[in-house]
Amino acid sequence: MKNDTIAGQFELLADLLEIDGANPFRIRAYRGAARTISSASESLAQLAGDGEDLTQFQGIGKDLARQIVEYVATGQLASLEELRAKIPPGVLDMLRIPGVGPKKVAVFFRTLGLRTLAELKEACEAGRIAELKGFGKKTEAGILQNVDKAAENASRISISDARVIAESVVDDLRQLPEVLQCEVAGSCRRRRESCGDLDVLAVCSDPGPAMDRLAEHPAVDSVLLRGETKQRVRLKNGVEMDLRVVPEESFGAAMQYFTGSKEHNVEVRHRAKEKGLKVNEYGVFRGEEMIAGRSEEDVYASIGLPWIPPELRENRLEFAWADQGEMPELISLQQIRGDLHMHTTASDGAATIEQMAIAARDRGLQYIAITDHSQRVSMANGLDEQRLLQHWEEIRAVNDSIEGIEILCGIECDILEDATLDLADEVLAEADWVIAVLHYGLRQPHDQIMQRLLNAVRNPHVDIIGHCTGRIIGRREGADMNMMDVLRAAADHGVMMEINAHPSRLDLSEIHAAAAAELGIPIVISTDAHSTEGFDVMQYGVDQARRAGLTAEGVANTRDLQEFRSLLRSS
Ligand SMILES: [Zn+2]
Ligand SMILES: [Zn+2]
Repeated sequence: MKNDTIAGQFELLADLLEIDGANPFRIRAYRGAARTISSASESLAQLAGDGEDLTQFQGIGKDLARQIVEYVATGQLASLEELRAKIPPGVLDMLRIPGVGPKKVAVFFRTLGLRTLAELKEACEAGRIAELKGFGKKTEAGILQNVDKAAENASRISISDARVIAESVVDDLRQLPEVLQCEVAGSCRRRRESCGDLDVLAVCSDPGPAMDRLAEHPAVDSVLLRGETKQRVRLKNGVEMDLRVVPEESFGAAMQYFTGSKEHNVEVRHRAKEKGLKVNEYGVFRGEEMIAGRSEEDVYASIGLPWIPPELRENRLEFAWADQGEMPELISLQQIRGDLHMHTTASDGAATIEQMAIAARDRGLQYIAITDHSQRVSMANGLDEQRLLQHWEEIRAVNDSIEGIEILCGIECDILEDATLDLADEVLAEADWVIAVLHYGLRQPHDQIMQRLLNAVRNPHVDIIGHCTGRIIGRREGADMNMMDVLRAAADHGVMMEINAHPSRLDLSEIHAAAAAELGIPIVISTDAHSTEGFDVMQYGVDQARRAGLTAEGVANTRDLQEFRSLLRSS
C-alpha cells in the first residue's frame, strides 16, 4: 500500500469532517497527517507492518498512528466508514466543482439539505444558492457552468484506481477452490484513462462462493443484484462492478465480448458475418455448431484475425494492421531503461538524489534525469539559477559515488505566461536535459498558449515538452492549443514529446502520442516521480503508449544511454 493511498484516506476523512461541521483542530490534524504521510520517504505501510512507532513522524500522534495501522491492516478506517454512513456520496461529488470546497458543500448539505449534484443544480436554477449568506450570483453561475461536467467525472474512476480494485478482486476470487479462472475485462483491460464501470469474468465450479466473496470485499459498498451467473455491486467509490460467471468453453468468447470496445466488436461481428459466422459472448457459431470460444486466440483466428492486444481494440488502425500482417509489437514495461522526469527534496520531492538513484537502480533502470522545478514554481520550492547550479554539482557528486546507474543533470523549466522561459539560456545550456512545461496560466487564450509552446520548442536548449496540455484527468481541462501545430514544430526542431505516466495526467493522450510518433518524434515515457514509490506509475505511461500503438523503437527511453543521447538535438 502506497503512502499516497493512505494520505488520500486522511484527506477524504478531513473533507468529510469539514462537511460534517467537526472541530477545526481535528480537521487540521488529519490534513497535516496527510501531508506528512505523502511526503515521507519511507513506506508507512511497511513501517506499520514492522511494528515501528509511527509517532516519530511530525504531526502523527498516538490516535493517528493507530488509525494508520488499522488502515494498513484492514483496508478500512472505522472513523471514515462512520462518516460515509452519515454523508451521502453525492455530497462528496460536489467537491469536484472548481471553486467549491468542503466549507461550501457543508452549507449545501447541512443548510439546504442537498444530497446530489442534480439537487445542487436544481437549487442553482431556482436561485437558491445566490440567496445564501456568503454566496452570490457569481458563485451560483460558476456552479451551474461546471455541474454537468462534475457529474460526468463523478461516474468515472482513474485507470489506477480501477486497476487496484479490479485486480484485488480478481486476486481475492482466485483464492477460492471453486474459481477455476478469473480475469478483468472491459475498459480497465483496455487500459482506458478512466473507467465508468468494471467487469470481471470467472469460470466457477459453483458461482455462489465467488459472489459471496465479492459482496464481502472491502471496496464493495452494496450488492445491487444477484442472479444465477451475474452479480452487480456498487463500490464505495460510486462505480459499479459486474461479476459474470461463464462456462469454461465460452471463456475466451466472453473475454473478447466484454473487453470491447463496442466499436471494435461491431467490426468483429461484421467480419464474422461475411464468413457466414456468428459471434456472441458464448462463442463463434456456424449455424448451430460452436466452432470457437474457449480462448480469445481461437475466437479471432476463426474469423481470420490474429489476436489483437486489448489496448488497441478501439476500431482505429488495428484491423488495417491485422489485414497487412503488421500488428505492432507493442512496447512493454521491461523495455524501459531510463526515467527522465523526477523530483527530489531540492524542490517538492520526498527523497534525496541518492535515494532516487538507488531506487531507480533497484528497479533495473540504467539512467535517470533529476528534473526539479524552476523558480516560478515557488510553492514547490523551485530552483533559481544559483541553487540550480549547486544542485547540479550535488547530482554530479552522487553520480560519481554510485555504481550501476547514470544520473543526468536536468531541470523542469516553466514556460512563463509571457512565453519566455523561467531560466536564462546560459543556464539551460549547462543542463544535460531540459523539460519545458506549462504550469501557470493554463486558461490563457489559444494564441498565447501556442506562442508559449512554440517559443519553447524553438529554444535550442529545450529537449522535450513535458505534460503538454496540462490536463488533470477528470478535474482540469488541458490548455487551449492546436496539438498538431505543436507536434509539427517539435518535429521540425528535433524536440521530443513526453508521455507523463502519472495516472492523473497521461499527457500526451494516446491519440496525440500516435500522431507524434507518426511524425517521427521520439516519445519519452516519464514518471514525474516525487518519491521513490513514484516510479511505480511507469506502467500507466507504458499502457498509454501501447494504446497509441507504439513499439520500443518509438520510445526513446527504451535505448541505452549512449543511443538515447544520440537522439538529443544538442548531440
Ligand atoms: Zn510539472
Ligand atoms: Zn515534474
